Amino acid sequence: MTNPLYDTLFGRHAGRTDPFLILADGATIGYDAFLAQAARLANALTGAGLGAGDRLAAQVEKSPEALALYAACVQAGIVFLPLNTAYTTDELTYFVENSGAAMVVCDGARAEALGPVVRALGARLETLDADGTGSLARRAAECADTAPVVPRDGGDLAAFLYTSGTTGRSKGAMLTQDNLLSNARTLAQHWRFGDADVLLHALPIFHTHGLFVATNITLVAGGSMIFLPKFDLDRVIDLLPRATAMMGVPTFYTRLLADTRLARDLVAHMRLFVSGSAPLLSETHETFEARTGHRILERYGMTETNMNTSNPYDGERRAGTVGFPLPGVEVQVTDPETGDPVQAGEVGQIEVRGPNVFKGYWRMPEKTAEELRDNGFFITGDLGRFDADGYLHIVGRNKDLIISGGYNIYPKEVELVLDAQPGVMESAVIGVPHADFGETVLGLIVPRPGADPDLDAIAAAAGQALARFKHPRKLILLDELPRNTMGKVQKNVLRDRYRDIFAAA
Ligand code: ATP
Ligand code: MG
Repeated sequence: MTNPLYDTLFGRHAGRTDPFLILADGATIGYDAFLAQAARLANALTGAGLGAGDRLAAQVEKSPEALALYAACVQAGIVFLPLNTAYTTDELTYFVENSGAAMVVCDGARAEALGPVVRALGARLETLDADGTGSLARRAAECADTAPVVPRDGGDLAAFLYTSGTTGRSKGAMLTQDNLLSNARTLAQHWRFGDADVLLHALPIFHTHGLFVATNITLVAGGSMIFLPKFDLDRVIDLLPRATAMMGVPTFYTRLLADTRLARDLVAHMRLFVSGSAPLLSETHETFEARTGHRILERYGMTETNMNTSNPYDGERRAGTVGFPLPGVEVQVTDPETGDPVQAGEVGQIEVRGPNVFKGYWRMPEKTAEELRDNGFFITGDLGRFDADGYLHIVGRNKDLIISGGYNIYPKEVELVLDAQPGVMESAVIGVPHADFGETVLGLIVPRPGADPDLDAIAAAAGQALARFKHPRKLILLDELPRNTMGKVQKNVLRDRYRDIFAAA
């Protein structure tokens, strides 16, 4: 093969006239039309002087055009670097500078603000809008609808994906063609994707979940996608009858559950619901199953490794766990001090090794050396444990671990107790500075709609359930938890907000 990623995801579907994308208004785009547009864009990019190994940063709204830009980069051997559309000009400056991108493609509306910055960094700016207009679209329209497939090796870089920045500054993870292909093939098989599948896709495509999990799996299987710009509840409910599978973040499921239209009949024909990117509450699991008859399949992954573990397709999908290591992927739980694996049941740092593991952080050799061990294991920064049946439980992030008076406290353990109390919808437990203990436990509680939870009773229940050093020193009610676009709770925001709460203590 000359370009394994292009051939497997795209080239193989040449000549197919059946739908690849189904849009919000019901219109469809066939495989052949999509590939022709990708080829035009590839010609426009090479015509502008970009070649194999160059980086292209794209900060564009989700659209078929934006997806065709991804395909065009793969075809032309250009390293694709999708960026969160929420990023500000300052943030974008960091990414363009850090990545050394040769070209930035943005929406027309952003061009004025970005132009001077991008040009000052020596990169070229083009625009591509969701409606198919923009400078790059105009160039593409004048190009041929077939393009050479630039030869690439499986070990060559295919994409740079910046991490979500939940725990600090985003890092550019270097992903090879083989990283992406191995995971897409494994998952398509594991989750039984086929060409009859229609995936409801309402995720952003600047993140590993929407781009490399959802899209690549569909392409490997040759299925189609209902491609929505965002999770718009009315559209999702309208279009679910045409889907066979859905992939989402936990907030998709809580939003569906809050709507009375979610009923057994609406989704009886569906084959699979997948959740990931953030922990799915056991409560969501149970209510979704009671309402729809479907048991959500939860999996675990990250920018640096794509997917690591998944609950089984057949067999028990265990709530509160992320299932078993995927075929070909090794997962071990180690003692952070020694790096040696701990006993089953004990908590430690989660490490991953396999063909899915990235090649390091771009221009961050020290960070790479800290997290990629010589034995090939990547230290994920997550803490977890395997239960007696081999299911992996994530107990939180290393950086969220609370150390109070010398004791380690896993926030998840305390959150599970708080979440189970009457009137509590969800909670977040963080460590805040404390003069005597170094850190102490603070519990933030979001009530169920209309409920008024009794904080004294909750504190008493936590006192019963947990060892003394784990008791929340204080509980606070919040309307909602701060979350980023992928639905991850931003504990660093909470820690900043409550940094001084015990300053006088
Ligand atoms: P940064 O590394 O920049 O701080 P981030 O880790 O949030 O940001 P991502 O790579 O987008 O960036 O997210 C991966 C993380 O998401 C995992 O390390 C894990 O903490 C969390 N995660 C993913 N899936 C699950 C899941 N099913 N349950 C719990 N946590 C999950
Ligand atoms: Mg991370």
